[in-house]
Amino acid sequence: MIYINPLDSNIVLARENHFMKIKCFINKKIGGTNCTDSSCNICKSQIVPLQKINFRIKNFLIDPLNLELLLTSSPENLYDLNIYFWKEIFPLFNFDDLLVYFNRKNISKNSRSPYKPFSEILINYYLKDLNRIINYDWFIDKNNKYYSAYDLSNNLDRNTCTYCNRVYTSTIINRHGKKVIRPTLDHWFPQSDFPLLALSFYNLIPSCSSCNSSIKGATNFNLNDHIHPYVDEFQTNDFIFKYRYNSTLNNYRIYLQDVNNFNSKARKTLEKMYVDDMYNSHQSELKDLIKIKKNYSKSYIESIEDLFGNKLSKDEVYRILFGVEFSLTDYHKLPLSKFKNDILKDLDII
Ligand SMILES: [Zn+2]
Ligand SMILES: [Zn+2]
Repeated sequence: MIYINPLDSNIVLARENHFMKIKCFINKKIGGTNCTDSSCNICKSQIVPLQKINFRIKNFLIDPLNLELLLTSSPENLYDLNIYFWKEIFPLFNFDDLLVYFNRKNISKNSRSPYKPFSEILINYYLKDLNRIINYDWFIDKNNKYYSAYDLSNNLDRNTCTYCNRVYTSTIINRHGKKVIRPTLDHWFPQSDFPLLALSFYNLIPSCSSCNSSIKGATNFNLNDHIHPYVDEFQTNDFIFKYRYNSTLNNYRIYLQDVNNFNSKARKTLEKMYVDDMYNSHQSELKDLIKIKKNYSKSYIESIEDLFGNKLSKDEVYRILFGVEFSLTDYHKLPLSKFKNDILKDLDII
């Protein structure tokens, strides 16, 4: 897990931009007022307002403060806002009751819910409206020329998966403007349970498709038990990669060790994301580092530094030698940076 600092200048700008664009899109859909920027491509666009949307949803979203909170507030506040929203819509339900309806697969055909069938129809009607307004499909549509997932990913500029740091997730838009590839955006609060938060900035985590779809999927993380990439500042160093030799298997076993006396939050999250299993596929990288240790009596880095004189910075030497970043804040730029740094420290190479 690689921490994304919400105060980094490019992240602040990405959030501001996301807010301005999505705010205008939602206002357009619900018939709200245009923004004050006369060059705003969304307000000037022909995006057609929705007809007959539910007045409670509209009343909530047309309030500028609600809309700003929805799009830009911290994950903790997003959770509270979500509860507040549904209380406004269905005063007699609590959110957990509603969740059963959101997850249609959980409802058995014969279930004798006291709310059926009227409430079920009503809830579906609200969900439909909400999905048409908080329209994630529009956002990820490659033909969306106003503001899309490509723009957000490009602005976030994260080169590797936030969850695993194993896979490149660069955003590539070629010189002809063709959208070639981008990271997937994981809904930290799953979209199936939290449709209101489908376009909230801090709920869109740039990640690889394995971590997003195959591993995390709709797993319901919560802020008390699990790490959030934008919230938990020390997550990257809350655990370290270690290895031991297993003579029975005649191979190494890579594992994770807690740094802060079993920080359960880090542990629970890493276990759910199968991080140690994934890293055991990186035996060859581990063996290369062990080989370096065995074959160099003098400090490996120092000897290479001597070779290059003063022409390269320490970070550059490091990148050339190990193909990873040295500084914690740069780990996201190259795959396996966290893993290799931990192992190199363990081997006493750095
Ligand atoms: Zn606008
Ligand atoms: Zn990943």
